[in-house]
Amino acid sequence: METQIVSRSRGWLERAKKYIEEGEVVAFHTETVYGLGANALSDEAVLKIFELKGRPADNPLIVHVHRDYDISPLIDGEPPYAAALRRAFLPGPLTMVYPSTGKVSKYVSCGLDTLAIRVPSSPTAQEFLKCVDLPIAAPSANLSKHVSPVTARHVFDDFNGKIPLILDGGACSGGIESTVLDCTGNIPQILRQGLVTQEMIASVAGDCGVYQPQRGERPRSPGMAYKHYSPRCRTAFFRENELEAAVACYEEAERAGETPCFLCESEVCAALSSFRTLDLGGTGETMARRLYDLLRKGERAATLLIGVEPREKGGVMAGVLNRMHRAFGVEHGTEET
Ligand code: AMP
Ligand code: MG
Repeated sequence: METQIVSRSRGWLERAKKYIEEGEVVAFHTETVYGLGANALSDEAVLKIFELKGRPADNPLIVHVHRDYDISPLIDGEPPYAAALRRAFLPGPLTMVYPSTGKVSKYVSCGLDTLAIRVPSSPTAQEFLKCVDLPIAAPSANLSKHVSPVTARHVFDDFNGKIPLILDGGACSGGIESTVLDCTGNIPQILRQGLVTQEMIASVAGDCGVYQPQRGERPRSPGMAYKHYSPRCRTAFFRENELEAAVACYEEAERAGETPCFLCESEVCAALSSFRTLDLGGTGETMARRLYDLLRKGERAATLLIGVEPREKGGVMAGVLNRMHRAFGVEHGTEET
């Protein structure tokens, strides 16, 4: 199969619609990361996503719909705070988890009685979803465990010859996956941190918890159990106060004939100007936007990627640090996929 990358051109959406109706999988741009989409109502189409990605069978998918799609047949009720959050943040990088009516394929939620729904703001995604007018199950368009894709080229690198079409909307402006929010309880609870932060949610809903899996408990967001976002080179990771040790690690690797490279925030890059560096930027939003692209650049350019933890921790950085820790294989309080 030949994989075509298409951006706004005549007939591009009709082609995507035809593939989706035939049960094929189509990759598309969103404002977070690229998605690998299929008809959420079809068992065969949904199973194809798991097969293509090599995704574990207990890691559920998010259903994407356009802004005017009526989700009420898919969900079994909605608390008032969830309606307020929808009005405040959708379309946008917020996934909401509801009790499911079981209308979509059972393979979407992997046996859970809930359904995760997202309304992306990307015009490419909106046009695609509007054109197919179906709920589209879509995880990130990367091979399982690999770094999530933030350009059409990244998707191509993982799925060339395996999917017919990639809807190119340019580089993703958000850069990390959506915030996943459990809306089945009395107050909303974050299952995965993202660009819509705990503070932003609490300012609308009055309160917002962050889920911490208890020891021995089956995680409420099953993707939390998996290693993720990993570059295909060796990695090392140092806290912000361990710069000397990070430099020693770099120099030792170089002496051993390796090609090491730092991945760190701008200020630290400036202090390390005599070394190979990849610059994450200086704000949470910039670091989110650059992280996955730099992880993919790093795995191509280096044999050892050395991450240095940014100093900033609040707001959007909760999501950035979560992804960095996962990519570098560092223990992190609440893990996510
Ligand atoms: P991905 O699209 O690859 O970022 O993966 C989607 C993630 O959303 C999964 O790994 C889950 O952790 C989360 N998710 C999807 N559906 C549900 C659900 N019904 N309940 C809780 N979390 C979910
Ligand atoms: Mg993913």
